[in-house]
Amino acid sequence: AAAARFGDAIALIDGQTAPERQRSWSFRELAAEAHRAAQALLDHFEPGDHVAIWSSNRPEWAIVEYGAALAGLVLVTVNPAYLAHELTHVLRQSRTKGIIVEDNYRGRDLGAIVEQVRADMPGLDFVLPLSAWNDFVAAGSDRALPVVPPEAIAQIQYTSGTTGFPKGACLKHRGLANNARLYAETIVAREGDVWINAMPMFHTAGCGLATLGALQSGGTQVMAPGFDADQMLDLFEQLRGTITLCVPTMLTRMLEVQEKTPRDLSSWRLATLGGAPVPVELVHRAQRVAGIEVGIGYGQTESSPYLTHTRPADPHPQWADTIGRPLPQTEIKIVDPVSGAVQPIGVSGEICARGYCIMAGYHDAEDATLAAIDADGWLHTGDIGSMDEYGYCRVLGRLRDMIIRGGENVYPLEIEDVLITHPGVADAAVVGIPDADWGETVAACIRASSAQPPSPEELADYCRARLAGYKVPRRWHFMDVFPQTASGKIQKFALRDVLLGNPSAD
Ligand code: ATP
Repeated sequence: AAAARFGDAIALIDGQTAPERQRSWSFRELAAEAHRAAQALLDHFEPGDHVAIWSSNRPEWAIVEYGAALAGLVLVTVNPAYLAHELTHVLRQSRTKGIIVEDNYRGRDLGAIVEQVRADMPGLDFVLPLSAWNDFVAAGSDRALPVVPPEAIAQIQYTSGTTGFPKGACLKHRGLANNARLYAETIVAREGDVWINAMPMFHTAGCGLATLGALQSGGTQVMAPGFDADQMLDLFEQLRGTITLCVPTMLTRMLEVQEKTPRDLSSWRLATLGGAPVPVELVHRAQRVAGIEVGIGYGQTESSPYLTHTRPADPHPQWADTIGRPLPQTEIKIVDPVSGAVQPIGVSGEICARGYCIMAGYHDAEDATLAAIDADGWLHTGDIGSMDEYGYCRVLGRLRDMIIRGGENVYPLEIEDVLITHPGVADAAVVGIPDADWGETVAACIRASSAQPPSPEELADYCRARLAGYKVPRRWHFMDVFPQTASGKIQKFALRDVLLGNPSAD
């Protein structure tokens, strides 16, 4: 449909910073390429078969995604940073029959790892190096493509593992395609927008929102090979980028770089942030440093992913500390995590969601699915949040990150929001650690903004002036980098390990 509407406009650009390496595809060329890819895949697979892609961001990733969708295959998206045992878990658990693999990722020979794990995986009988992709597609036979129903599973995505072992969320065509479309409409993405994308393609943010969002709104997707703040700003300048979708830490880095070595960012108008709490200060800083608007979305892999989003020109005075309102066709309710009763307006509880975008379930994990989606179809997100009388929602943190200090509930996010406003703090992450007197105590990990970090006493005084006493961190730890998942989110369990001196943290 996009090819018919947008024809010869540019749909996809290989986001290398060297202009001679910036291959590009028009909408029409992309559709033709996806069609040929689907035909070639069907020479080897039946509709409904599971096929994995293990690669970092490359334009071929998107072509594999479209080709697999047209062929009715279920694409299993695999994080390129996985080690052999993680790859084995995902390929076995998803019962994958074939894999398309990037030759080399950050100096690791991924093909060799696949050969190694394949030895004891009899079901995996097809391996295609990404470097052979073009020849593979060219050799495909001419055949009719199947009709793929919207309720069919399009992808299995393994949750990124901030909270434990990855589970495979089965996402439907209807959920993925419409979620990206509604997101693009909500942020008022336009034909001719240039999206600079560095979100990982194995995650719904990359292969869903950015890819399918740009496609359906007639924008050009520039696929950066990975996240590098300098390179992102170069791409914005060179290609006159207008939009990016990223997690807050990425935007923070880009603004830091822009402050030191300014580029011409006059074309850039919007950064949409999600996936992690967005400090209010970051919204203001983005306006100050890059002259851009910020949008905020909230969701999770299990909901394809977005459930709420802010709108440009939101009239609500405090929208910046919210995650916006539910997207169209999405129901949200806030329930008491114990009784399940719907909470009154403004009272916090577990965020639950229902609608077209909720996953069909976790692959081959009935108990986990039943725990996540109740009999009435509500997804229990595991996040604590609230909703105000206008429908604006807030996230206070994850149920399992909540700190209970001497019976008082402490939400790390509230403390992080205060710490981040201190001029000596570049980033802050708060966790609970066991304490003999209080059950749990509040600990803060700090990334200082200069070589002279503020003292713990100064930071504690700063917090004491702005927070109730029981919320003020009692333990402080300064670090240069925070442990993060591949999608840029802080791994709080790893921080806890560091604070507790657990050797596995290294
Ligand atoms: P896992 O499910 O294995 O823990 P993950 O949390 O990284 O991995 P995602 O599905 O990508 O997997 O993350 C979704 C979570 O990110 C949400 O449940 C919520 O906790 C958090 N999140 C997403 N958007 C926001 C936001 N705007 N503000 C605060 N938190 C957010």
